[in-house]
Amino acid sequence: MLEPVAAAAETAPEAVTEAAPVKFSDFGLSPAIQRALEEQGYVHPTPIQAQAIPVLLQGRDVMGAAQTGTGKTASFSLPIIQMLLATANTSMSPARHPVRALILTPTRELAVQVADNVKAYAKHTPVRSTVVFGGMDMKPQTEILRNGVEIVIATPGRLLDHIEQKNISLSQVQMLVMDEADRMLDMGFLPDLQRIINLLPKQRQNLMFSATFSPEIKKLANTFLNNPRTIEVARSNQTADKVTQVVYKVEENQKGALIAHLLRQRELKQVIVFSNTKIGASRLARALEQEGMKATAIHGDKSQQERMAALEAFKKGETDVLVATDVAARGLDISDLPCVINYDLPYNAEDYVHRIGRTGRAGASGDAISIYSDKDERLLVDIEKLIKQTIKRGDLAGFTPSSRGGEERGERGGERRGRRTEDEGRARGPRTPSAYGSAPAPRREKVDPWFLKPYEPASAAAAKPAASVAPAGGSSIIKAKPKLAFLLGGAPKQ
Ligand code: AMP
Repeated sequence: MLEPVAAAAETAPEAVTEAAPVKFSDFGLSPAIQRALEEQGYVHPTPIQAQAIPVLLQGRDVMGAAQTGTGKTASFSLPIIQMLLATANTSMSPARHPVRALILTPTRELAVQVADNVKAYAKHTPVRSTVVFGGMDMKPQTEILRNGVEIVIATPGRLLDHIEQKNISLSQVQMLVMDEADRMLDMGFLPDLQRIINLLPKQRQNLMFSATFSPEIKKLANTFLNNPRTIEVARSNQTADKVTQVVYKVEENQKGALIAHLLRQRELKQVIVFSNTKIGASRLARALEQEGMKATAIHGDKSQQERMAALEAFKKGETDVLVATDVAARGLDISDLPCVINYDLPYNAEDYVHRIGRTGRAGASGDAISIYSDKDERLLVDIEKLIKQTIKRGDLAGFTPSSRGGEERGERGGERRGRRTEDEGRARGPRTPSAYGSAPAPRREKVDPWFLKPYEPASAAAAKPAASVAPAGGSSIIKAKPKLAFLLGGAPKQ
């Protein structure tokens, strides 16, 4: 269960002065929605819901600072469904079901999760919803879109494919949600977002959710939000108080052995282990499996089906350890975990906050264990500076270094040569040389077509092998050049 609203007081920003309502029935939501919430077992709104729902129902724009796991999806889905009830109907005519709300997400996993939630909340209403994302046959999505649907949850690239093929019209969109906007910018979706926004009616309600408030996010918000109410449930860069953090320093070639030791010693189940690289994630999962543990890797090179299956198995408890890269884990509804382990310290200190936010939620306690070696000292300094605390150094008593260390070093050495995060190469801004420590000049890893791909028309994409991704470019029909300067500031509000 998520943190109930009573806990909101500590984190509520000054701007929000109303006493937060404590029951869903206080929002005036339709009985059909309330019934669905009861079926979901929701009793109290979470802080973000308590603050955002009334503001959104008034029709105001909202800038929400909230991560996955705070209940943010319901905070925007419920008002959307409620407002669409005014025009909801059971007509069979597609014309009576134009797209009225568009929810954009950076990853297909997040899109699916949001869509599942929306479906559950709208199940007793005639409001239709669907999800579209890449890597899947377009035909079934096309059929649903053409039959008419009020709420569309989409990843930007696939949405543009459908727009190009005239499967969808955005001319009647009244509400736009940008979920995990910071991640969308990180992933290079800005030009795609610009194209999509250009196709929407100027008069509409806008919502933007972001876990962090970087200057780029603020500029994006200034551009497309109209006098937004800012709602914050947990300040960015703040690590959960209930999370016990510890770092262990070992030789680089002993990191895997230490993880196996900790998993065994603490009998850990339902653990996410973060790796900076796809190859590192695969190798660690394999090594843990060889040690008799139930581990799976999840990263951008895995097919959509493989990732879904891995996530499902993890949620069902069939897998104990999910080894993930940041990009693959982002947006996944995996929360309230007892323990998160960093096999590598992240290059970006902010990712440390995201990672350990998977544990210690909803007032529960959690453990965040990080492993580092000599060469990662600089990364640890960056993290401690960001979170403004010194992380406890763990005691390695009881850990016997693996004699297979040499083998591991061989593998990891190879990995270091090609060391790049999945984020690499996107618009995150220049990295300081220290972020790479003393690693030799990195070779670029194979580009992940799912995550790094800027918009490319479906037909062109289909004609190419998966790994050969076109450079950032545009749709052939949607000619608008990516006007970054326009989107990043100085532009009139839409
Ligand atoms: P989200 O941050 O939207 O991804 O939500 C995280 C999880 O919390 C999801 O599994 C939701 O179903 C669940 N959730 C959302 N709102 C509530 C609530 N008011 N009470 C209990 N659980 C909730």
